[in-house]
Amino acid sequence: MHAGGTDNVIAGESHVPQNGEDNEKFGVYKSLCCGAEIVIKAGTIFPDCPNHPKLTTIWKPLLDDRIGSLPEEHESESDPAA
Ligand SMILES: [Zn+2]
Repeated sequence: MHAGGTDNVIAGESHVPQNGEDNEKFGVYKSLCCGAEIVIKAGTIFPDCPNHPKLTTIWKPLLDDRIGSLPEEHESESDPAA
């Protein structure tokens, strides 16, 4: 018997979006069930997983590690004298 109202273990600050919910922030999201990556714009409802349309799909936001400063410099050719 269920004594509580929350089946989710997740509680608190980190809200994990699921299908059917409104997306608040543009970004790339990845389904936890099979790792399908999609781009969801702000104001768009999270869709079902393309591989698991009948299940509750949790979309985990991916960090944009492509955006930002690169940790390595591949081309570091600098002429000492011009
Ligand atoms: Zn899936």
